[in-house]
Amino acid sequence: MTSGFDINCCGHGLQLGKVEITRVQDYYGPGFISNFMFPEVRPEMFEAHKDWLVPTFYNPESDKITSTIHSWLVRTEHHTILIDGCVGNHKERPHNERFNMRNEPWLERLARAGARPEDVDFVMCTHLHADHVGWNTRLVDGRWVPTFPNAKYIFSRKEFERWDTRRPDYVHTTAEENVFEDSILPIAEAGQMLLVEDGYTVDDLLTVESAIGHTPGHAKIRLKDQHHHALFCGDVIHHPIQLPYPEVWSRFDDDRVKALETRLAVLNECVDHNILMLPMHFAEPFVCRIKHNPERTDHPSFLPIWGP
Ligand SMILES: [Zn+2]
Repeated sequence: MTSGFDINCCGHGLQLGKVEITRVQDYYGPGFISNFMFPEVRPEMFEAHKDWLVPTFYNPESDKITSTIHSWLVRTEHHTILIDGCVGNHKERPHNERFNMRNEPWLERLARAGARPEDVDFVMCTHLHADHVGWNTRLVDGRWVPTFPNAKYIFSRKEFERWDTRRPDYVHTTAEENVFEDSILPIAEAGQMLLVEDGYTVDDLLTVESAIGHTPGHAKIRLKDQHHHALFCGDVIHHPIQLPYPEVWSRFDDDRVKALETRLAVLNECVDHNILMLPMHFAEPFVCRIKHNPERTDHPSFLPIWGP
């Protein structure tokens, strides 16, 4: 165990001052075929970095990228906070076999990480895609109910408005079919939803900041105290291939140009301030710091320094 994060969440979390962070896994394994996920990625990009990408992050035989989907459980002195809600169980996702009608012991993993659903005070979602909101709710007697009965669920207002299927200007995407109805609306109806603007802070420690592009209201969540600085960056970056090649865009980016601007800004900031980056889909060791890649001169380019 090099990173200190147990893959099944029974190890110790990462201690940053008075804050403990534990990873709670929903999925770890083969993801999409590389150029389905990243239409402009080229084999030579993986080839050039195979010494560190293969086999952990990329399988050249299947041409599939490795994907993880996890939540970050953050315990401060005062609160228990869950960042992002993975895919969830029993959700009908007719357009994604990997996400459809799952039955994973994610709640048991949460328990092994030391939290019961009723302990969670806040759920913070970087954005409202299917793989970030699933455990917001669970199916009880045929009804979707909030998984965390005592939590306030914090969503960016702009992001909520984008996915509100009741709006006349709603634009349908097949990938997000049913997501609003089974994972967002039940939270609003239960009175547990808090729609926030850029800059909203929990415990003077975790700040919601706009990081748009992947989705119209995508947020990153900054953890900062006197001595520690970390960034839960959501889907600003999906896979480590986007470090040396930040211009590699994802099929699921709503606005590629803004997504790249945001990715470059976040990566540069991580270099400049030695910030610990905690993405949602990087394989083990899951977290990294960032340095510039001096080998490439035609485009800003970065490399990971793995581990906390
Ligand atoms: Zn995602």
